[in-house]
Amino acid sequence: EHGSADSSNMSKDKFLGGLLAHGHHEGSCLSRYQSSLYRKTSPYKPSSYLISKLRSYEELHKRCGPYTESYNRTLKQLQLGQTQSISSANSECKYVVWVSFSGLGNKILTIASAFLYAILTNRVLLVDPGKEIHDLFCEPFPDNSWLLPNNFPLKSKFDLYEQKSPDSYGNMLKNNILSTSSESLPSFLYLHLAHDYKDHDKLFFCDQHQKSFSEVPWLIMKTDNYFVPSLFLSPSFEPELIRLFPNKSTVFHHLGRYLFHPTNHVWGLITRYYKAYLEKADERIGIQIRVFEIEAGPHKHVMDQILACTLQQKVLPEVDKQKTFIPPPRTSSTKAVLMTSLSFGYFDNLRTIYWEHPTITGDVIGVYQPSHEEYQQTDKKSHNRKAWAEMYLLSLTDVLVTSAWSTFGYVAQGLGGLKPWILYKPENHTTPNPACGRAKSMEPCFHAPPFYDCKRKTGADTGNLVPHVRHCEDMSWGLTLV
Ligand code: GDP
Repeated sequence: EHGSADSSNMSKDKFLGGLLAHGHHEGSCLSRYQSSLYRKTSPYKPSSYLISKLRSYEELHKRCGPYTESYNRTLKQLQLGQTQSISSANSECKYVVWVSFSGLGNKILTIASAFLYAILTNRVLLVDPGKEIHDLFCEPFPDNSWLLPNNFPLKSKFDLYEQKSPDSYGNMLKNNILSTSSESLPSFLYLHLAHDYKDHDKLFFCDQHQKSFSEVPWLIMKTDNYFVPSLFLSPSFEPELIRLFPNKSTVFHHLGRYLFHPTNHVWGLITRYYKAYLEKADERIGIQIRVFEIEAGPHKHVMDQILACTLQQKVLPEVDKQKTFIPPPRTSSTKAVLMTSLSFGYFDNLRTIYWEHPTITGDVIGVYQPSHEEYQQTDKKSHNRKAWAEMYLLSLTDVLVTSAWSTFGYVAQGLGGLKPWILYKPENHTTPNPACGRAKSMEPCFHAPPFYDCKRKTGADTGNLVPHVRHCEDMSWGLTLV
């Protein structure tokens, strides 16, 4: 079904089971309606409720998006500093502004989180374009842009927002300067939801606090975390979330496919690579190597881990080091291994193993790596394009191996609908044993969840409250939807 898809397959899933709206201009974003040529049809169908919610969100976005009458009016409140009263505030559009922050994988996960939050709270999502958003992603909504206009009044403050900002909801609460009386709501609040957030910031996840800022027209959000699992613990959001996602572990899978369409030049990177190296293989295997060590790699303990995991779990066949030639049996297949890594060494090593020795199964293994950028270069255009193309290519594989703690890998597994083998995080330069384990879920992990019971106002293990919010395999304190 890959690549060589016929037109019937294309028409079958061109709109991803109803997830995508009709009416986008096709040429301006080829990936939107061509993704079904490269992906297998997802076995996970979006609920009809999710589809209807997306269509009504699109209407809201059209009515409230940048430069609409409502947008201009609500912007005036920001300039006045306060909303006049709840009743007048009610008639206006309300917004969540996502602030550009952190690496690309983190950005993709947090935009999805902010979008879900917007849907749940009837707000409009506006995305701070930063340096790369417009270069990497097509507009997701049909009639108006999701990009925050450059002349947005608070924009110059975005870089300064941090844990200690006096404007943040947490600090205003802590310093008792937040009046939640109906007469004088602030016109905006800064929500600090980054990994270093404090107890007062974490009250964002409590219903009584959600209520207290529900009429504030502008919420400015900075986060590097996929906070969706904690929304499922809120009694006021949970019923709606379960209606939207009866299969709870498909949140990012659906929202990611709805929101993130590569722009045409990134689509060129993806499709040329796919056709040249992956399309003709009988099986595609993705191996994502992300090493969080200070010293530059390649590291022996990581290479040993890659081999231990892929051979023990039979993701890749063993080689016969005694023989130099085994005639391939008739039934042998070709497997294409797509590796991604900032360094060259792991790929070079694996490729050499399968060139120098025959496999005991007779299978032929091709190993490919699109780039080795050596280090993270978040502000460079071509670097970010490659990073996005590689996440997407990994999502087109049949079997996926990812690295613990990496949002880059989460994006690939979520878009692809894949439960990866996770290479556990090595400690003290030692290969972990076991080297990897199978993920329970294709959902990303929330790395910094609050451990707080909002009702009882005490600490609580939030990974133990309901069956569908559990701790992650790759990070024991993280939370994921299963
Ligand atoms: P995380 O740090 O693994 O959670 O992922 P992020 O995507 O948020 O940040 C890592 C960044 O480093 C990426 O966005 C890329 O800029 C770069 N990077 C890391 N691994 C790779 C890789 O395998 N290929 C490419 N092209 N870039 C990578």
